[in-house]
Amino acid sequence: MVTGKHSPHILLVNPWITDFAAYNFWIKPLGLLYIASLLRESGFQVTLIDCLDFYSKTKKLGDGNFFKTKIVKPLPLRSIPRHYSRYGIPEELLLKRLSMIEEKPGIIGITSGMTYWYPGVFRAIEITKTFFKKVPVVLGGIYATLCYDHARKHSGADIVFKSGNELEVLKLFSRLMGLSLKTHHSKFLTDIFPSFNLYSHLDYVCIATSRGCPFRCTYCASPILSKGFFRRDPFKVVEEIQYWTTLHRVNNIAFYDDALLIEPSKHFIPIMKEVIQKGIHCNFHTPNALHIKEIDQTVADLLFQGGFRTIRLGFESSDEAMQIETGRKVNNQEFLQTVRHLRRAGYSGEEIGVYIMAGLPGQRVGEAEESIAFVREAGAQPILVEYSPIPHTPLFEKAKQFSQFDIENEPLFQNNSIFPCQWDGFTLADFRRLKEEIRREAMV
Ligand code: SF4
Repeated sequence: MVTGKHSPHILLVNPWITDFAAYNFWIKPLGLLYIASLLRESGFQVTLIDCLDFYSKTKKLGDGNFFKTKIVKPLPLRSIPRHYSRYGIPEELLLKRLSMIEEKPGIIGITSGMTYWYPGVFRAIEITKTFFKKVPVVLGGIYATLCYDHARKHSGADIVFKSGNELEVLKLFSRLMGLSLKTHHSKFLTDIFPSFNLYSHLDYVCIATSRGCPFRCTYCASPILSKGFFRRDPFKVVEEIQYWTTLHRVNNIAFYDDALLIEPSKHFIPIMKEVIQKGIHCNFHTPNALHIKEIDQTVADLLFQGGFRTIRLGFESSDEAMQIETGRKVNNQEFLQTVRHLRRAGYSGEEIGVYIMAGLPGQRVGEAEESIAFVREAGAQPILVEYSPIPHTPLFEKAKQFSQFDIENEPLFQNNSIFPCQWDGFTLADFRRLKEEIRREAMV
């Protein structure tokens, strides 16, 4: 609880996505919503503006297209022959929402997502700063953490915040407003629910039952964004699921965990047994990939019986050398076994989506083709994803040497849509051909 001022006011903003393409796979600014909860619990008044909370069409399971506005491409991307858009609310709507705020905020907190989405972040900073002159803007989130120097130099924010720890943000906000703070929370938040109730309408919510991942895959940002691996109390997790499904009638929940299934007997199995025992009916989704080697028959059955509708497996490649080189999170035998478990549990092949990575530095197209064939033969559905070079990951160094783009100094070039590590052995045309073949195959 803060002392020193009556209900200090904070404006939190989730900015737009700016990209060649974007789809709403249950995107919500979970970190920002945790910060909102902490602030409210500590006596702050919070206003949330989510620039992405605006749809042109929503599908049955809560996912859907964002509303988009075509915009001029940033200069470094001018040569890319694709349309570029701002996804989310029209700018006028942001201005309207700002004008409806009755009390001037003491701080504006803005989050950020993918590094190459920064133009939308900068625009949100510019607009809010112009609207609320002299109010300090604090920028946090993924881009701010991974591209800290770039954000400090170019974003226009007064403070760029690097830590992924919400409690540190709470302390910073209290300090900036000259307030003294007492909080009972520890470093990892276990007993607080994110502030989804700041939304007027909810098609879905997201949940994080853990933070971080014990693996260290060379292409992945998880170990950089979350130091260590922490899990919540399984019963608190079920309480949260029940809260959203009963009190707010939410039918779709996306798990944001990087490592939901690690040591399932301690975490996932008690969670799902309790969900089933309580008769909770909900569609669950795992847009972040599941750990293949943790799925035995018990886990597969619980996934199916518990209501997991969107299964995504993080396989990446059937090439054994590549599996070893990038972190050994899975091998081919484990993958085949898992697909068998999932099929036996009741999933059809189309329902088991398997991520395969395309465009890693030095990767040949033939390797991706073999991986696609391997997944199909196993009876699952390949999903080809372009590699995005992420600063500070071990593979970024190799990508820097390999890419024809200046991915080190210009985050826009880290965009997977431009296929940053394309070369003669794996061109963008190759990638598009494979994508099209997968699409056509899925329609048969
Ligand atoms: S297992 Fe998944 S989340 Fe963990 S480091 Fe590897 S890719 Fe990242």
